[in-house]
Amino acid sequence: MEDLKKLMPKKLGFGCMRLPVVNGNTEEIDDAAFCRMIDAYIERGFLYFDTAYPYHNQKSEEAVRRCLVERYRRDQFFLADKMPVWLAKETADYQKLFDTQLARCGVEYFDFYLLHAMNRTRAAETEATGGFDFVQRMKTEGRIRHIGFSFHDSADALEEILKNHPEMEFVQLQINYYDWESENVQSRKCYEVAEKYGIPVIVMEPVKGGTLANMTGEPARILKELDGNVSYASYAIRYAASLPNVMLVLSGMSNEAQLMDNTSYMKDFVPLSGQEEAAISKVVEELSKMPTIACTKCRYCVAGCPKKIAIPEVFEDYNMTVQFGINETNRGSYARHTADAGKADDCIRCGKCEAQCPQHLQIRELLVKVSETFA
Ligand code: SF4
Ligand code: SF4
Repeated sequence: MEDLKKLMPKKLGFGCMRLPVVNGNTEEIDDAAFCRMIDAYIERGFLYFDTAYPYHNQKSEEAVRRCLVERYRRDQFFLADKMPVWLAKETADYQKLFDTQLARCGVEYFDFYLLHAMNRTRAAETEATGGFDFVQRMKTEGRIRHIGFSFHDSADALEEILKNHPEMEFVQLQINYYDWESENVQSRKCYEVAEKYGIPVIVMEPVKGGTLANMTGEPARILKELDGNVSYASYAIRYAASLPNVMLVLSGMSNEAQLMDNTSYMKDFVPLSGQEEAAISKVVEELSKMPTIACTKCRYCVAGCPKKIAIPEVFEDYNMTVQFGINETNRGSYARHTADAGKADDCIRCGKCEAQCPQHLQIRELLVKVSETFA
């Protein structure tokens, strides 16, 4: 199999899921700003763009066509797109979705194409409806150069997919230094499975949705002491890029400042030094000592809540504020988790959730804290 790592002159990919927008409207992409970002990115020698059907309420692919495809020769960039497998209810749907994506992007082929957001259940469904066969056929027909999948599940589930699908050439995983040893995300375990199967990794969420770009307290002091002139995000991106089986690290860049920062240290990428690695371990240790809510996300509490409060999710949002301070990222996350569900202050203190919680958390009292934090 071709060594995909050799195709990447630089290890930073441009994620097109948080593009600059006009008036805060996610569907109205700021083309002028996006064009300037693309120009600076390409001028600095980078070439990988990653979009997907649902990004920006289905407007990202068209923005990529306007700002990238119609302004650059096709051999000046790599374009990655993803099959929204959850929309393919029967085999014929794959072709319809794929043709829509080619048209939206204005291209004849994709350099990289992924089955989007796979997990154990979705892999079985995609198998049953012919999704794996479809992407292989598109590759044979020259519509896709390289096939892979993005993944959110346990390392065991990843191993099952890779065992059943040796045709997969790469996998996209959520890897960042905070989640490296996490039992939920299993970054390290998933990375090791990919390595075992000789499958290169594209990293998504290296900065944990922007979280690791914000530091307060002791973690901030540790990183500042290393070098006061570089961003916190730079350590997170370089951490992921330093892993030898990583072929690319995606960053969802939202403005020109982020792009200039990311490209400055990824242009001539230098892996983390021993001293930097030790500092990051210390940061993780400090973060784990902070007084967060010990929710294991088992979700036993959720079903019986009359106010439909997404208890584990809002606890996670609160934990992020404890570790990283209150900021736009965790405020946005809390807003999403309470958009179609109850807010922390909707709790009527019925206590049904606490009766279910194996961790014996005082959920009612904790929700008061959450509510005060995001008030
Ligand atoms: S105490 Fe609050 S959070 Fe718990 S079940 Fe009742 S309404 Fe929901
Ligand atoms: S039952 Fe307890 S530990 Fe489980 S998700 Fe709910 S609050 Fe978290």
